[in-house]
Amino acid sequence: MTFGSSAATRRQAIPIAIEGLTKTYGRVHALDSVSLSVGAGEFVSILGASGSGKTTLLMAIAGFTRPSSGSIRFGARHVTLLEPHKRNIGMVFQSYALFPNMTVAGNVAYPLRLRGVGRSEIAERVAKALQTVRLEGFGDRAIDQLSGGQRQRVALARAIVFGPDILLMDEPLSALDKKLREQMQIEVRHLHRELGLTTIFVTHDQHEAFTMSDRIALIDKGRFVQIGSPTELYNAPASRFVADFVGQSYFVPVSVASGTASLGNRPLRLARAAAYSVADQFLVLRPEHLRVMSPGESEGDDNILAGRFKELIFQGESYLAFVDLPGGVPIALRLSGHQVEAVRALDIGSTLRMALSPEYSLVLP
Ligand code: ADP
Ligand code: MG
Repeated sequence: MTFGSSAATRRQAIPIAIEGLTKTYGRVHALDSVSLSVGAGEFVSILGASGSGKTTLLMAIAGFTRPSSGSIRFGARHVTLLEPHKRNIGMVFQSYALFPNMTVAGNVAYPLRLRGVGRSEIAERVAKALQTVRLEGFGDRAIDQLSGGQRQRVALARAIVFGPDILLMDEPLSALDKKLREQMQIEVRHLHRELGLTTIFVTHDQHEAFTMSDRIALIDKGRFVQIGSPTELYNAPASRFVADFVGQSYFVPVSVASGTASLGNRPLRLARAAAYSVADQFLVLRPEHLRVMSPGESEGDDNILAGRFKELIFQGESYLAFVDLPGGVPIALRLSGHQVEAVRALDIGSTLRMALSPEYSLVLP
């Protein structure tokens, strides 16, 4: 079965298994023993800062970069040293990499011509692919008559037209402005659902990774620091690095003695499932997890923090209140609705009591 015979057509999706993949350039470890399993039809994002090794990993999967060691399998097939054109992969790059002297249809037809597909079938498949990316009727346009978003759709159509087993995308939306980019994120997500292709998507933008992915592999200096669903990375970061990279976090020192942690002079209550380790020295605070307590409110089961109110800032959809905890530790709270009114009424420098549910009380080394 090949993609294109009907919009609902699905190929048999293929899993990817990467084991101990290393790539060195002189003394630089671009990839340092990276392992990742991507399920058949899964959408996984590789998220990391510039220079962390994302492109190197994608190029090794595509076959353009030869790994120093480690292995890559597509299903049962070992492909580590296989030539790129034998891997049946669709690729989309940040720099669209379209042929400027060909029409839209010419660009999309290119991989089919390479594969020796006949004329009438090419016409049919190109039309279907353009329909899939919502560019029906654009076949005769020149590339320079298209907007950035439309060009990226052409690149997508070209990547899927020949029925690839796997789709790889390297920061494909980075050149688009914010609105269009967010729209394309949803569209690519829908396209993935429709085609069911095993997909690896590279980005340095955490919101993009969160919006699009079944799972995220966070990479730093050529190593994966955590692999998990967006909610796992957000709510259960494995390290301070992850908590800092994903969302906004403040780190508040806790005192550690005889197997318990204390915040101020109170024992810190953690989520029932969470285990406390002796090495844990910091409470991770996310602005949206703190709640302002009303003046007479009793303490209940929550962890209580008191601090000095500094500033309230309007950010459009919500407010951010800045507070200094004892010892001068700065934190912030995200506020909306009636909580804003309570804080707005406060004088700068007055004391604010805040509640943190044990469910959100996470401690890290
Ligand atoms: P990312 O895509 O996350 O920005 P890259 O995979 O492009 O990161 O690069 C990872 C590291 O490997 C960087 O330190 C980069 O300088 C280095 N690197 C990548 N390609 C080469 C190359 N061809 N020669 C030497 N160093 C390279
Ligand atoms: Mg890159």
